[in-house]
Amino acid sequence: MTFAATILTLFPDMFPGPLGRSLAGRALEEGIWSLEVRDIRDSATDRHRSVDDSPAGGGPGMVMRADVVAAAIDAACPAGDERPRLLMSPRGRPLDQARVRTLATGGGAVILAGRFEGVDERVIAGRGLEEVSLGDFVLSGGEIAAMALLDAAVRLLPGVMGNAISAESESFADGLLEYPQYTRPADFEGQPIPEVLTSGNHGRIAEWRRREALRLTAERRPDLIALRESTKPAD
Ligand code: SAH
Repeated sequence: MTFAATILTLFPDMFPGPLGRSLAGRALEEGIWSLEVRDIRDSATDRHRSVDDSPAGGGPGMVMRADVVAAAIDAACPAGDERPRLLMSPRGRPLDQARVRTLATGGGAVILAGRFEGVDERVIAGRGLEEVSLGDFVLSGGEIAAMALLDAAVRLLPGVMGNAISAESESFADGLLEYPQYTRPADFEGQPIPEVLTSGNHGRIAEWRRREALRLTAERRPDLIALRESTKPAD
């Protein structure tokens, strides 16, 4: 089964963009995943092909119309399409590696990229959209957020990453940030590579990496340590 991504956007020419390069791009060419990009404006019905209007109740900006967005979603989702429908939105649950992993094991996703002040609330409920945020900041549109989500999911698909083991040790795989990495030269501006890493002793290396991962996580992301403690299986 290929991972089928459908993007609904007002800026279809932004895609595939970075998703057409490197790991994701190669996987796209190989058919490991597919990308369908649909222009929301094609679902506009009036003479001016308008997709937005001023917010009810007043205030700045424009809001994407419920009828146009709903029609775009309906046109994109054939009957029986069970893919999750995501709306990129700063109000959503922040994306994390666990959600990315779940998405990557499914059949793909239909992703709506918002613009302006966002989308009419009624279409979010009416079409069962799951709001997903990239973090606590505001982008000008959902396209970059959709690309980020897809990039994270596609690299986990079977056959995409050359070295599958790297997915197991990288940041968040076990709820920790990754340990520090080093490569050549052996001496960089007077700083050597930590001796243990050149020792050839795999046990000591694994132990050092584990310790460093814990140290970095405690220092930078105490929230992740707290989360690990709270979700540890009770014995
Ligand atoms: N008025 C909205 C922000 C709209 S930004 C608010 O205050 O919540 C326009 C679009 O950019 C949004 O509809 C969404 O699709 C996208 N976007 C902005 N920030 C985002 C974020 N942190 N994560 C995901 N999508 C985001």
